Amino acid sequence: MALLTYKDRPVDLAPGETVLDALTRAGVDAPSSCRAGTCQTCLHRAVEGTPPPESQNGLTAAQKALGFFLPCVCRPTQPLTIAPPDDAGARLEATLRAIEPLSHDVVRLRIETTPFPYRPGQFIELIADDDLRRHYSLASHPDEDPYLELHVRLHPGGRMSRRLMAEMKPGHRLHVAGPRGTCFYEGVELDQPLALIGAGTGLAPLYGVLRDALRRGHRGPIRLYHGARDRKGLYLADELQALAQSRENVEYIAAALDPDAPFGGDIAALALAEERARVGQTAYFLCGGEGLVKRLKRDLFMAGASMKAIRSDVFSAG
Ligand SMILES: Cc1cc2nc3c(=O)[nH]c(=O)nc-3n(C[C@H](O)[C@H](O)[C@H](O)COP(=O)(O)OP(=O)(O)OC[C@H]3O[C@@H](n4cnc5c(N)ncnc54)[C@H](O)[C@@H]3O)c2cc1C
Repeated sequence: MALLTYKDRPVDLAPGETVLDALTRAGVDAPSSCRAGTCQTCLHRAVEGTPPPESQNGLTAAQKALGFFLPCVCRPTQPLTIAPPDDAGARLEATLRAIEPLSHDVVRLRIETTPFPYRPGQFIELIADDDLRRHYSLASHPDEDPYLELHVRLHPGGRMSRRLMAEMKPGHRLHVAGPRGTCFYEGVELDQPLALIGAGTGLAPLYGVLRDALRRGHRGPIRLYHGARDRKGLYLADELQALAQSRENVEYIAAALDPDAPFGGDIAALALAEERARVGQTAYFLCGGEGLVKRLKRDLFMAGASMKAIRSDVFSAG
């Protein structure tokens, strides 16, 4: 019997090879991003056999029980039959209810689906058709919002971006799958300081985490840092400023790289200068492009933060 079977097809697996590498070599178009067991982009499900425990690190108890695992860090020694996560029945029909601009290149999508459990800050896969699927983070709260809320940056030339601009109007039918990811408010003390740091649409999961923290009665200080290339990119700034003014424990710090912007500066440098003195107590949530997230992770770690205190999502392309 083959050690690895993908759907009904045996796949060659070299000793010590990861499932992701074997799938890629076999020509399976398996999604991946960090390749280190962190981002969960490559999530698959074992339909027969038990995945090695280290390939389930970071997944929820429910996901583990359902056989979900991360192929990028999975080196099976027992026969395993696997399927993409959608084959587990997680793919849901969805209807676009609203699409509205948040800035010159970011839109807010409101999407209706059969309700499913998720935590704000996790991400879903948006499926326009079998060939066009992208991950987007959840800014909505399942107990407060009737729809899923996504903040989507429209990349010129991007395939999903083009589809959204050209075709998607309220009433448009699509599918979503998920949720995935561990970048959500969990394992945090109510009095612990939180630092939520992101750039661009990295705000989407942080906005979700912030709302969830407040709803759960978080009492410790929450500092939300949002960076953008220019002032126009600091979307939701008025709403976040108003929120910070109405809540004693919430601070909103925004910075744009454009030197002419009223809040000029590099958000990572700004956040690091501010946070350096507080590492050790603070829980961090870092979201956005790879450069920003990697740099913040490294510098916070070098400043003494524990990796366990850092949750992150890298918005890699593809
Ligand atoms: C876990 C996760 C969560 C994500 N959450 C969000 C979110 O909440 N909001 C959001 O807008 N995006 C998010 N993304 C990114 C998103 O999945 C897509 O990659 C992105 O929207 C581009 O899709 P596209 O089809 O328009 O462009 P594609 O056709 O995939 O790419 C076309 C070109 O656009 C450029 N490009 C694409 N993506 C990026 C990027 N992220 N940074 C810089 N250049 C890029 C590249 O030059 C690329 O070659 C997330 C990604 C991951 C992995």
